[in-house]
Amino acid sequence: MRASAGLFDRARQVIPGGVNSPVRAFNAVGGTPRFMVAASGPHLWDADDNRYVDLVCSWGPMILGHAHPAVVDAVREAATGGLSFGAPTAAEIELAEEIIARVAPVERVRLVNSGTEATMSAIRLARGFTERTKIVKFAGCYHGHVDALLADAGSGVATLGLPTSPGVTGAQASDTIVLPYNDLDAVRAAFAEHGPSIAAVITEAAAGNMGAVAPLPGFNAGLREITAAHGALLIMDEVMTGFRVSASGWHGIEPIAADLYTFGKVMSGGLPAAAFGGRADVMAKLAPTGPVYQAGTLSGNPVAVAAGLATLRAADAAVYQALDANSQRLGALIGDALTAASVPHRVQYAGNLLSVFFTEGEVVDYASAKAAQTWRFPAFFHTLLDHGVYAPPSAFEAWFVSAALDDAAFEEIAAALPPAAAAAAAAKEPA
Ligand code: PLP
Repeated sequence: MRASAGLFDRARQVIPGGVNSPVRAFNAVGGTPRFMVAASGPHLWDADDNRYVDLVCSWGPMILGHAHPAVVDAVREAATGGLSFGAPTAAEIELAEEIIARVAPVERVRLVNSGTEATMSAIRLARGFTERTKIVKFAGCYHGHVDALLADAGSGVATLGLPTSPGVTGAQASDTIVLPYNDLDAVRAAFAEHGPSIAAVITEAAAGNMGAVAPLPGFNAGLREITAAHGALLIMDEVMTGFRVSASGWHGIEPIAADLYTFGKVMSGGLPAAAFGGRADVMAKLAPTGPVYQAGTLSGNPVAVAAGLATLRAADAAVYQALDANSQRLGALIGDALTAASVPHRVQYAGNLLSVFFTEGEVVDYASAKAAQTWRFPAFFHTLLDHGVYAPPSAFEAWFVSAALDDAAFEEIAAALPPAAAAAAAAKEPA
């Protein structure tokens, strides 16, 4: 750990907290973040030459495993042909066509650079289209660090214990209505009170940012019904679920037609790219065809587009079968180890996203996620890490599998789990 510790000291001199995205700092679990130097297949290597089985997968994108030859070749070829043109390319059409072919309600796609940009743009568009101001979001759902959406935002924000963020103005927050996830009565009540001024409901297609919490049967359909009845748009955030939980994302599991969708992660192949899309009449309001402004110097960047296209094209039925099987296999191993150590727990799935909650009760929303014994998590996490397994460094994050996890990787995981479960069992609740 000496090299990582030295790099962390140096990083903190020039980068706030030493990291470029807060959860990487290990604040929720303590200790020194590992500085990574390489990744291949199911493994990561850190600056001290430790090898880890990766169960974070860059927070979702790496469904094929790291440095997949087809993706690396596509990136190399694209880069050789020019890094950025600031002008349209044929490959952007292909990526848009690929997304549209997979998610039926999406008729038009605009490429952007991050999931945050996708949700920010979708919300501006929804407001521009409906000429209304208010947005409904759900506590524990994270949609990127968009000002108006940084209220009860799960994962990074939940981990830091910030109910919202300084720097977000009262005006921005007051147009955001935050409701409990999976609670249609709360949605009905909000529409009864504010219906004519609600532009959109934004929801994670299946929540992954308070841990994996699938929508209860009828929840997403209820959102569709209520928004349609009130002339508001439904925005499905598939940044995390998109092209991971099935070839068509959560839409492939629960085909409910939203008005707008946001995508990122898998469709970027691990480079900075994301997208939003949806109904043609709504998307037509975007500049240059409409008045809602949205733009990007590097949007549709040829190297990022090549990585995304190569990833989607390599993700055939066998890859999705492997993701589902690996998720179930991982969840069973975690559950068995925690049961053997008598740790109260629940392994919960949303498609092939999974999380472990240290509670026996069902987790359906942010309140029930926070009620778990999260104080057991740091010991569990660090013991896994010490045994070569890189899990998400927060109790409120989903675990991401790749199709590259093989029997040897699962043997490493199986060997790490019993001591990790014992450490979770021995953890003491802080006074
Ligand atoms: N939406 C969801 C559901 C996410 O999980 C995330 C990031 O984790 C985002 C949006 C923001 O994406 P990005 O980190 O690329 O800005």
